[in-house]
Amino acid sequence: MSIESRFNPLLQQRTAQHLYRQRPLTFTAQQAEMQINGLSVINFSSNDYLGLANDAAIREAVMQGLQDKTLSYGSGAAHLVTGHHLHHHLLEDELADWLGCERALLFSTGYMANLAVQQTLMQKGDTILADKLNHASLIDGALHSEADLKRYPHLDMAALERRLTQVNHGQAMITTDGVFSMDGDMAPLSNILNLAESQQAWLMVDDAHGFGMLGKQGKGCFDVQGVKPTADTILIGTLGKAFGTSGAFVAGSQTLIESLIQFARPYIYTTAMSPLNALASRAALKRVIEAEPERARLQQHIQQFRQGAQALGLQLWESQTAIQPIILGSSETAIEWSDALKQKGFWITAIRPPTVPVGQARLRVTLSAGHTSEHIETLLDALNAVQTEIQS
Ligand SMILES: *Cc1c(COP(=O)(O)O)cnc(C)c1O
Repeated sequence: MSIESRFNPLLQQRTAQHLYRQRPLTFTAQQAEMQINGLSVINFSSNDYLGLANDAAIREAVMQGLQDKTLSYGSGAAHLVTGHHLHHHLLEDELADWLGCERALLFSTGYMANLAVQQTLMQKGDTILADKLNHASLIDGALHSEADLKRYPHLDMAALERRLTQVNHGQAMITTDGVFSMDGDMAPLSNILNLAESQQAWLMVDDAHGFGMLGKQGKGCFDVQGVKPTADTILIGTLGKAFGTSGAFVAGSQTLIESLIQFARPYIYTTAMSPLNALASRAALKRVIEAEPERARLQQHIQQFRQGAQALGLQLWESQTAIQPIILGSSETAIEWSDALKQKGFWITAIRPPTVPVGQARLRVTLSAGHTSEHIETLLDALNAVQTEIQS
């Protein structure tokens, strides 16, 4: 069978189901006001929660880095060969100090970090217990490991406890997003950690959306909930969201990190990120730590948006974070809203199955410290207008 004859029907089916995906083309820096697909829009879709993707201090650090003859753009090799540059090493130390962990380890992407941890730590006969709404990369990491995967309904602690007590052999590990990427709600870490400890299970928390946005110095979900990670807690963070650069890290114990260096295939068999990106991320970490004014502004935007959207009668989710979904139901309706908003100058992605459950297609509105309160106000006006147009 040719590739065409296998895939053309699948592509046609996607179109018919209003699920066909396209890559919007951007012509400007990543920031609140952008040119996307030839339109001038206010961007409410990025994960740039602190507005650091185009930050002046990070740009300056990169420009100085380019002048520095001890730094090349390319890393040239994997970390275990000759790719591990001083700036990678310092970034790892600084991340560990910031979070109060023994060690941190860099990965090129969060996706790879999630594969690496689960493949390495979990063996045949072990069980991974995952929240149903975990990020796709946590799910894929579990499927690529040799452990059994059991999913529990979103945030359902009673179901998690039942599944945990059913594990009667091997090691158990609970995996959860810290802040859920499509919903904006948070895992109840104190409850989960208590359950984990009562069954000697390990806990892996992917706080891609919490780091930078939440807690003192942006230390994420654990900090904002006043919970301390244990020696059997594994933290995942990404640098491509609030940090405004790219890459990811695993943070935890000395033994965890050494085991990943020795045994994790997605760590060993891949080229180290550019040392220039490590340098930029060191500047980004400094900005994240100091970003109390940005975090305060973001909280104001969240309150302003929620109050305004509720007054319009829109269906919001229980989210106190920068991720504020508006649930619309069918994929078709979500696209209709997204297109109408684009015409009015607002870029808000419609999120459809399989990214979210069937019947829960939504607009995923993300707020940023890079927005002004006028941006939020004009968005609320546009939502009001679109709602009237579509319902009439
Ligand atoms: C974005 C994201 C990832 C993937 O990180 P990348 O660095 O983009 O590969 C992993 N987990 C969660 C929860 C995410 O939102």
